[in-house]
Amino acid sequence: QAKAQGGGRYVVFDASVQKDAIALLQLETDLRLAIGALINTPSTISEFIVYYQPIVSLSTGKITGFEALVRWQHPRRGIVYPGDFIPVAEETGLIAHLDWWVMGEACRQVRAWQKQFSSNNPLTIGINLSSRQFDQSDMVERIDEIIRDTGLESSSLKLEITETCLLENAEKAIAHFEQLKALGIKLAIDDFGTGYSSLDRLHRLPIDILKIDRSFVNSRSDETDKWEIVRTIIMLARNLGLDVVAEGVETADQLFQLKQLQCDYGQGYFFSKPVDAMAAEALLVSQFQ
Ligand code: C2E
Ligand code: MG
Ligand code: MG
Ligand code: MG
Repeated sequence: QAKAQGGGRYVVFDASVQKDAIALLQLETDLRLAIGALINTPSTISEFIVYYQPIVSLSTGKITGFEALVRWQHPRRGIVYPGDFIPVAEETGLIAHLDWWVMGEACRQVRAWQKQFSSNNPLTIGINLSSRQFDQSDMVERIDEIIRDTGLESSSLKLEITETCLLENAEKAIAHFEQLKALGIKLAIDDFGTGYSSLDRLHRLPIDILKIDRSFVNSRSDETDKWEIVRTIIMLARNLGLDVVAEGVETADQLFQLKQLQCDYGQGYFFSKPVDAMAAEALLVSQFQ
């Protein structure tokens, strides 16, 4: 298209590519500094913040736990979302440091909430794992250490991993998962339905939870194909004895459909956006009073 509009377009195109490259380099440098600070200084002055998004039981309407979602409070850019820096952090190998920090921070926070709001069903915390963490031979030991340091029950911790990450790390994942399972930690497949996991592989992995990707859940009621996929995943989960969480619930109508299909849990803007610890605590206060 640039060609059709004349040679001059190439210059504009090149300039913008160069600008992008410089911006990316700057982002990478900033990210390196911000993650470096996590390793060297107390967490209280971190540029990263853990946000918490409630996961709700669809049968009781109560918050049963949260998913930890990281945000980067950049001094000049403002809040940067994971989609804009996690890929960079992954490419540069910085992600693992950040992920360990998020896990420690979120486990500590949820343990504090468990003490503050005691219940027969202790709150759970979902943490996203990245591919890079599987490269670390001491992955399981580090998770075990975080659990012991924070005093969180292992059964309160739910590790989320995408199908793609599973495929990339098939051998290591199975070995690590068996060990994590032995510790009592729960394992969830994130964004389920968007990847290519075979049912055979799924069956062989010690998985506890399927999280249905929001591209299926966040549909109009007349999008019958998508609801058929949701229904099939819920049935699959039930037959394999897995819990199922619908991601990206945004409307009352979607909630209605999910309840009809007897989906166990929901997560999405309809219940709450991801919020900081103070706002998450306020949600718990109103639920427990
Ligand atoms: P995810 O694990 O699938 O997390 C769900 C994403 O969907 C979150 O985006 C959340 O804000 C968003 N979401 C939740 N409910 C709704 C809804 O009703 N509608 C819509 N449109 N979106 C909804 P977020 O926080 O931007 O995170 C994006 C992805 O980045 C996450 O997807 C996860 O894969 C990754 N991520 C987030 N935090 C971390 C982290 O600490 N470590 C790693 N390795 N990855 C992370
Ligand atoms: Mg997730
Ligand atoms: Mg997801
Ligand atoms: Mg995702």
